[in-house]
Amino acid sequence: MTASAPRPGAPPAELSARAAALREQLERASHEYHVLDRPTISDAEYDRLFRELQALEAEHPTLRTPDSPTQRVGAEPQSALPKHRHLVPMLSLGNAFTDEELAAWEERAVRLAGAAVRAAGYSAELKIDGAAVSLTYEGGVLAVGATRGNGTVGEVVTPNLRTIRDVPLRLRADGKVKPPAGVIEIRGEVYMNFSRFEQMNAERVKAGEPVFANPRNSAAGALRQLDPRITAQRPLRFFGYAVARPDGAPALPFRTQTELLEALAAWGVPVAPHRRRCETLAEVHEWAHEVERTTRAQLDFAIDGGVVKVDALALQAELGDVGREPRWAVARKFAPDIAESTLLDIQVNVGRTGSINPFAMLEPVEIGGATVKLATLHNFALIADKDLRVGDRVQVKRAGEVIPQVIGPIPEKRDPAHPPAPYAPPTACPSCGTALVAGEDRGMLYCPNFQCPARQLEALVHFASRAAMDIRGLSYARIEQLLQAGLVRDAASLYDLTAAQLTALERFADKSAENLVQAIADSRAQPLSRLIFALGIDYVGEIAARLLARHFGTMDRLAAATEADILAVRGIGDVIAHSAFRWFSDPQAQILIERLRERGLTLEEPHAASGTTFAGMTFVITGTLPTLSRDQATALVEQHGGRVTSSVSKKTSVVVAGEEAGGKLERARELGVLVIDEAELRRRAEGGAP
Ligand code: NAD
Repeated sequence: MTASAPRPGAPPAELSARAAALREQLERASHEYHVLDRPTISDAEYDRLFRELQALEAEHPTLRTPDSPTQRVGAEPQSALPKHRHLVPMLSLGNAFTDEELAAWEERAVRLAGAAVRAAGYSAELKIDGAAVSLTYEGGVLAVGATRGNGTVGEVVTPNLRTIRDVPLRLRADGKVKPPAGVIEIRGEVYMNFSRFEQMNAERVKAGEPVFANPRNSAAGALRQLDPRITAQRPLRFFGYAVARPDGAPALPFRTQTELLEALAAWGVPVAPHRRRCETLAEVHEWAHEVERTTRAQLDFAIDGGVVKVDALALQAELGDVGREPRWAVARKFAPDIAESTLLDIQVNVGRTGSINPFAMLEPVEIGGATVKLATLHNFALIADKDLRVGDRVQVKRAGEVIPQVIGPIPEKRDPAHPPAPYAPPTACPSCGTALVAGEDRGMLYCPNFQCPARQLEALVHFASRAAMDIRGLSYARIEQLLQAGLVRDAASLYDLTAAQLTALERFADKSAENLVQAIADSRAQPLSRLIFALGIDYVGEIAARLLARHFGTMDRLAAATEADILAVRGIGDVIAHSAFRWFSDPQAQILIERLRERGLTLEEPHAASGTTFAGMTFVITGTLPTLSRDQATALVEQHGGRVTSSVSKKTSVVVAGEEAGGKLERARELGVLVIDEAELRRRAEGGAP
């Protein structure tokens, strides 16, 4: 038999060639992803190529080579670290991209193990997008920690894993189910919180170091550092989800995956939130949709789907594995929240403080069910560090509700003959043409012109916003219209507007003109704290504004304060103090305050406190409370003499936590700070018991 005369049924030559090309491409991507922690294609693209190869191999089994990526887990471990052989192989997972594919997975399991599968129900868990590790405990004490490696043999990274505070060095044995006395491997995922990842990258930008592409790759890279001191500097976390025992070891006293996760939690191993025991596959579908649509956006860590497991451990054993995948579990993958696009242009807008904010114009791309055309670029240092160029193919991320971000260019996709030109930041304000100045933060540019029209628009929008002066009907479009008509030039001039002036404009009926003039007039009664916030001073948020208003009592005292006076206010740090002091020192600001005074605005803070129940106590409010808004809860605390701050520290007296409370709640628990809910807050406020 020769290549030119295929036997009937053998795949045509072009299919063999395609399979070989796919193998090679996947092999390279896998090495870049698993070994170098530097992927050059998106996961979605990898999955697409992988499925194409799987389909080819399914149709033409002779195309399936033993070394095909479809037959293997991960990649060969790197040689610099010692090796560890896992008790039982650490496998990959099959994928289901739709409800139908998930139903097909269930049908196969039912075919193999009978209707008992359906009766046993499922454990639905988040699929953490991190790096898989196994932790070997001997007599409850952490002995070895290893990466997954090629599934059979991983790299020993025990000292690195010991630096992760989530990883228990000793399993707790004070619960109902004790950890086994012998050897047990606990498996799970090492990951990094988005917030800590962003913070780490911001610090790297400041230090002039290159930024990391995404939390998964920086977690995997940090884990495999040769020097644990480097790992310790990276904010790694851990979630456990499975165990393995040596052959012949006595069975553990649980029957289901659900019980296993509960036991892990009781042993002190963190278990990922939002898991659900589902009685039927319909419930699993519902859970997966909810996680994809809602939960994912609220998480502070990356997931790339859910994992659905047959809950009964006996059935798991019966179903067993096929190649690189267990038959009893499947990954329910979501639409990727990272996609590839082309950077069509880099444009800038002007913020209310004069900051010049660069953003990316992208070729429209679907990410996680939404079409993305714009993405933030943060600052000019980031563009330079990532060497983003107009015309580049780029990776774009959309983390839930967060504004899409450009992760970075894919330099390999540049045409070597015609690479795009490096990007040059603007030198003049796009709105007023004033020469830009560099800010104190690296990579930030500012328009210094107080009268810049773009700055004024943003400043007025902020001034009128709900948390500031709360002027109903003064929308973005209205403010644009008023500026264009030359009717307003600063916040004070809003108070000079007459209904007659407004009705002369397009789209203004008599009634709406009168209502707007009235709403503007009413806003004069807003307390000083709101006015300070409304002024849009850099770093002075609602809470800082309230602290300043309460401390100084009047606008005049605040305006006359030295930087040291402001710094002496409890809860105000040097960044805010410096910014506020600088703002009030500007003669333009003094003119604005005089103009506001002439128009009858309230330049004093009323004494609101009606009780002293919470006197001397510091509260932090986190999450969504069932009935009170943030403002209302703050007002309630303040009325009773308490103070509300934004971050939890040892000095915090009480944390009021609502739904989806995240890091602040965790921190409160770590520090042993009292945590209460809204009902308890009300009870204490009303009942007078602190
Ligand atoms: P996988 O990530 O799709 O699924 C298996 C892994 O899921 C397990 O090993 C485990 O680490 C993890 N996991 C997370 N939460 C879990 C839970 N609750 N229960 C059980 N397991 C859980 O498969 P894989 O073999 O690790 O990697 C393949 C995937 O990696 C691809 O689908 C692709 O997305 C990505 N990849 C990307 C590239 C690239 O170049 N971009 C290259 C190779 C692989």
